[in-house]
Amino acid sequence: MNRRHFLKRCVHNSLRTAVAAASITHLPLLSAQSGSPYDLIIRGGRVIDPSVHLDAVRDIAIAGGRIVAVEPNIEADADEELDAHDKLVVPGLLDIHAHYAQDPRGPHVALEDGITGFVDAGSGGADNIDEIVAVLRSAPQPARALINIGRQGVIGSGDTADMALADVEACKAAITRNLDYVVGVKARLTEGVTANDVEVLRRAQEAASYFNLPVMIHVGQSETPMGELVQLLKPGDIVTHMFAPPPNAIVDDNGRIYPEVLEARRRGVWFDVANGRIDHLRWDTFDQIMAAGFWPDTVSTDGFVNSREVPGVVDLPNIMSKFLNFGGMELSEVVATATTNAAREFPFLRDKGTLNVGADADVDILELRDGEFEFLDNYEGVRVGDRRMFPVEMIFRGTVR
Ligand SMILES: [Zn+2]
Repeated sequence: MNRRHFLKRCVHNSLRTAVAAASITHLPLLSAQSGSPYDLIIRGGRVIDPSVHLDAVRDIAIAGGRIVAVEPNIEADADEELDAHDKLVVPGLLDIHAHYAQDPRGPHVALEDGITGFVDAGSGGADNIDEIVAVLRSAPQPARALINIGRQGVIGSGDTADMALADVEACKAAITRNLDYVVGVKARLTEGVTANDVEVLRRAQEAASYFNLPVMIHVGQSETPMGELVQLLKPGDIVTHMFAPPPNAIVDDNGRIYPEVLEARRRGVWFDVANGRIDHLRWDTFDQIMAAGFWPDTVSTDGFVNSREVPGVVDLPNIMSKFLNFGGMELSEVVATATTNAAREFPFLRDKGTLNVGADADVDILELRDGEFEFLDNYEGVRVGDRRMFPVEMIFRGTVR
């Protein structure tokens, strides 16, 4: 090690210590005038951080796995630099409705696609949540689960078509076993559940409320009118598959949003996309809901380990691009649905979805390409849009992956 190297190292270490202290006490960070204090600088990208309403060309400096500067022009050099000119630089994306934990490879595949935090939404119930949690524990990124009120998790015939499977005590025992990894309860009000949907939801609430956790309801195939179902939701609960078509939609047959749905949002109920592959999104319903200004709080994939091969899903930036092309949302508003907003819904993501100085350096670099791109709903509806976001590079906890 030569002297210059050695000095550089020392500066490095002292700055890291200072950064760690600063992120806790909010002291001003050291300036970068001496040596090369940064591990990584991402230069010249269009940085979109909805948490501070930033949409501008910036450099981002990273040290010790955290963001230490976001400035128009960072003069110091770094051990590693990334050129992000003509690209979007956004907080690491968060996917609050996915099924990546069904396969041990799932979280890793998701990370490659820029997913730096996710929620597995109901893959497992009381009988198999331990296996889901084992996958989550070994996931590289923060990842938690909603436990299915149906004790076998997702089953084709309907998770709680047999009401004996909606076992509150078994669910509570399973949550108790996995308190650090279960962040809510999922009620899949699917076909097969039909007339029992209210009772299934009531049982999900009973299990969740005991632990002060939210409930997520899967809608679209429920039988009870949506206006009645949403009245059983409490602030912090989530309606997923919000673009599922009538007769079980959040809109009536004339495309008007039910007043009880509007009221639910005012009460603090969240509305989530969960694109998926069947029955969850139809373009005409999408248009009605978006035209009413009832935009999603969160855009999510409902994705699996192999979703890249599902043309309507592919990856989260593809689904986000639907809202950019057809939903009337601005880029920063679309980015918020998979970053800031997601972080608000689940406490374990609260320090994520931001590029603030002091936050974990989880950064996605996307390309916003112009051209002709096909976007699919779940009913073989194809639309052509002229912009699509593609993930090109990702940085997780300060490391380029
Ligand atoms: Zn799902």
